[in-house]
Amino acid sequence: MTSPIPLESLLPNRTAPQGISAGNGNGTGLLNGNGLQPHHPNGNGRRISEIDLPIGPPLPVAPSFDELDLGSPRGMWSKKARLLKAFLLGRPVWVTWQVTYNCNYGCSFCTYWQNDFKPHEENSLEDFRIGAEKLSELGSLIVSLAGGEPMLRRDIHQIVDILARDHFPYLTTSGSGMTTKRARQLWEAGLWGCSVSIDYANPDKHAEHRGVKFAFERALKAIEQLMEARTDHRYQRVQIISVLTDDNLAEMPKLCNLARELGVYWQVQPYSVMKTGNEKQRHLRGATEVLMDLKERYPETFHTNRLYLERFDEAVNDGIDGCIAGRAMFNIDNQMVASKCVEFNTTEPCGNLRELSMDEVLASLHAAHERNTCTACWYSCRGETEVLYEPRGFLNSMHSFLWQSRRQPDGKGAQGD
Ligand code: SF4
Ligand code: SF4
Repeated sequence: MTSPIPLESLLPNRTAPQGISAGNGNGTGLLNGNGLQPHHPNGNGRRISEIDLPIGPPLPVAPSFDELDLGSPRGMWSKKARLLKAFLLGRPVWVTWQVTYNCNYGCSFCTYWQNDFKPHEENSLEDFRIGAEKLSELGSLIVSLAGGEPMLRRDIHQIVDILARDHFPYLTTSGSGMTTKRARQLWEAGLWGCSVSIDYANPDKHAEHRGVKFAFERALKAIEQLMEARTDHRYQRVQIISVLTDDNLAEMPKLCNLARELGVYWQVQPYSVMKTGNEKQRHLRGATEVLMDLKERYPETFHTNRLYLERFDEAVNDGIDGCIAGRAMFNIDNQMVASKCVEFNTTEPCGNLRELSMDEVLASLHAAHERNTCTACWYSCRGETEVLYEPRGFLNSMHSFLWQSRRQPDGKGAQGD
């Protein structure tokens, strides 16, 4: 299936689409929905056109990839055994790693696009090597590479390569900056799966919400490129990930259907007020019913854990106690600071992995976990990890991950294919 990108999207310095300033979900009436830099052509206030990508660190930041002292990659089953062992021993199994805090989009539910980090201010490849080795002391972990926009880093495939030696790297992207060549580099480097963000099946609505023209078309193109470039259909997964906000519950069936048509998985997580402080963008009630119905009807496409979905309304309206952040999952930011989750890297840092041992950082994370009373989010990194510790949740997710029993919905990729 071919998804054309409109030719205008390849031109720099585009003007904002008509009417994009209205209805951005927080009542400000501003282009990017968060009340800052309202007149920028692509909504992020920094005059960066998507076509200039990648704009990440002007490499090399020494040492180069070839100069790194990297060990041999482990085999898939060795990594899976180490992940299972980490899980059984109660160690962290999920790490989110913000590879950059820069972003070229201007989403209404996020403020990261305001950042302007310089290359030397963010993690180098040597930092990733150090971090990957220290994580390896815990086992082989699922490492979710996020941002910011990870594709802004020219060296993202090398970051994946470093992490894939011992771990299972996943990537989340808006789709911006993806090409077939880069997709292939990522898969060849050992990427395990890639999530592309789409929040509305209506292209104009998605672009408005993301603050960038043709965000929808670019996301579709990225999915197509990722699917085409796969090198091992047994495990390389592509999926659409959607953020549920106050005005897109009715879009969910359409998004699930879009994923089915594209032959990819679909996953959903609720918006959290932690990013912008804007309460109005929360969906209120009714999500659980809609999502459970979709899960029943399209289990092959809808990849989100059933137990996690069951608690959407409760999480958003009442909050769910007992967050596992700092225990079963944690975050590493773009300067190697570990924290219990992505929202606490500056307010409650738990040590820098450049300087401290894994044991020291882990002790600090455990202490943060013990005193944690936060119920602010039901992000997938929290919720999908948390439900693994219930038998039904484990069977739903970890089982299929470890034994790869699920097919990519395009029909390719069952175990033994
Ligand atoms: S949600 Fe993602 S794509 Fe949007 S501004 Fe934030 S980091 Fe960028
Ligand atoms: S509920 Fe947990 S994962 Fe979510 S923001 Fe709070 S501490 Fe972080």
